[in-house]
Amino acid sequence: MMEPIPYAEIAQRLVMWHRQHQRALPWRNAPAGARPVYAVWVSEIMLQQTRVETVIDYFERWMARFPTVEALAAADLQTVLKQWEGLGYYARARNLHKAARQVVDEHAGAFPQQRSQLRKLPGIGEYTVGAILSLAFNQPEPILDGNVKRVLSRLADIDQPIQATATLKLLWRLARGVVEAAPTGAAGACNEAIMELGATLCTPENPRCLICPLSSVCRAAAIGVQRQRPVMAPRKSTPHFDVAAGVIWQDAPYSSPLLITQRPPEGLLGGLWEFPGGKLEPTDADLRACLRREIDEELGIAIEVGERLTVVQHAYTHFRITLHAFHARHTGGEPQAIGCADWRWVAHDQLAPYPFPVADHKIIEALHNGNLSDSTSGAMVGMPES
Ligand code: SF4
Repeated sequence: MMEPIPYAEIAQRLVMWHRQHQRALPWRNAPAGARPVYAVWVSEIMLQQTRVETVIDYFERWMARFPTVEALAAADLQTVLKQWEGLGYYARARNLHKAARQVVDEHAGAFPQQRSQLRKLPGIGEYTVGAILSLAFNQPEPILDGNVKRVLSRLADIDQPIQATATLKLLWRLARGVVEAAPTGAAGACNEAIMELGATLCTPENPRCLICPLSSVCRAAAIGVQRQRPVMAPRKSTPHFDVAAGVIWQDAPYSSPLLITQRPPEGLLGGLWEFPGGKLEPTDADLRACLRREIDEELGIAIEVGERLTVVQHAYTHFRITLHAFHARHTGGEPQAIGCADWRWVAHDQLAPYPFPVADHKIIEALHNGNLSDSTSGAMVGMPES
C-alpha cells in the first residue's frame, strides 16, 4: 500500500526553504501572510498566464497610477485598459476595474475576508481566492496555479492527465492538505513557497531534484519519472485564420485622419481599439474583397483598398491569425457603429491615448515607418490614384 502523503513534513520543509530562497519581487514588500490585499490581488491577476519578468514593470506602473482600490475604482475603463495594454487577456483588466468598483461600493473599500464574498467579485476564481486569503490574511486556503500543479503531481506521482476533472480534484485536495499542515502563522509562506519551488527548482524540463528540499518525499523523483509528470493530454491542433484589416484614410494618407474602431465591451479584446476588418470567409474572392465586405458590415461605408501595409502573425490562446493590413481610402457613406462599440477619425500621430491590442501595435509601427514624404504630395501611399 502507498505511504500517506507526509503533509506536515512537506509544509515545514517548504516554509524553511522559502525563508532562505524567496526572490525579491515588487509585490513582496511584506511577509507572505501579511501583505496589503490590494497589491496581492493586482499581482496575482497580472501573473495569470504571464511571466514574472513581464509583470514586474506592469505592476510597478499600475501601482504608481492606481495606488489604491479607490483610485482604480475612480478611473475610467479606457485609462485602465491603456495601463494594461500589451499584457493580454484583457478581461483581467476589465474585471479588476469592475471588482474595484464593487469593493468600494459594496464593502466600503475593504476587501472581504470570506471565501463566499470574495468569489462574488468579477475575475476572482478559486485560485485567486486562495492567493488573497493566504497571502494577505494568512488563512490556510489552498492555491493551485500551473507551478503548484506540477510540483504536486510530481510529489504524489500522479500518472493521469492533469487536465482531467478527477486529477484536478485530487490536486486541490493535495494543495489543501499541504497548506492546512503549515506551521502556525505560515499558511501564506507555505503557499508562496510551493509556487516558488515550481517556478525556480521544479521546472517543467529540468527539475533540480538534487537541491530540492522535497527530494526525500517526492514519489516521482524516487522512481525517476519526474520529467514525465505531469501527464499532459494530447493537444488539439490550433486553428488558423487569415484576417484583413484596413488603415482607412479619410482622404490623403498621413495628412488626413484614419479610422479606428472600438471593440464591444465584452469578449476577446473587449473595449480595445483596432483597425477595422475581419476574418476571410470562403465566399470572399480575396483579402481585399474580404476587407470591403467587413467594413461595409461593421461601419456601413465604402472603401477603396490599396497596397498591403504589413503582415502580422499573432497567436491567441485557442487560435492563430495572419493579419494582413492594407492601406485604404474612404469613398462613401458616414461611418456607423454597426458591428463595433464606437469609431473615431484620428490623426496617425494621435493614436497614443487609445489602448490597442499587440497585433494592431505592429500595424501602427509599420505605419510610422511608412514613407511620410508622400504625405505632402496628396498621392495615396500604396493606393491607385483615383
Ligand atoms: S524532487 Fe524534483 S520532481 Fe520532486 S518536487 Fe523536487 S524538484 Fe520537483
